[in-house]
Amino acid sequence: MEMILWLKRFFWAGLGLPRCNRLTPLVSQSMDRDLTFKERILLKSHYIICDRCDRYHDQLEIMRKAIQLQNEDTALSGSASLSPEARSRIKAAVLSEAGH
Ligand SMILES: [Zn+2]
Repeated sequence: MEMILWLKRFFWAGLGLPRCNRLTPLVSQSMDRDLTFKERILLKSHYIICDRCDRYHDQLEIMRKAIQLQNEDTALSGSASLSPEARSRIKAAVLSEAGH
């Protein structure tokens, strides 16, 4: 498995295509604007050879959807404040995570 991944990366680099550190800003930008056709092709083909960038994209997508849901929820309720129950649950989770 590692060998196949290594070969894919070697092939990618051999084509002179940009590496992860030059593509991650583009992954972030894909959340904020419509990418050009060339940029979309570049990212999609990179995701095939790079699990890390693919996962990064998936995580950004999840965060974006969570924020959208939060915004829709806030718009529906007309308030950005949390319920007392939600505050308690979050506080308990944070304290539990911190080992208290
Ligand atoms: Zn990558």
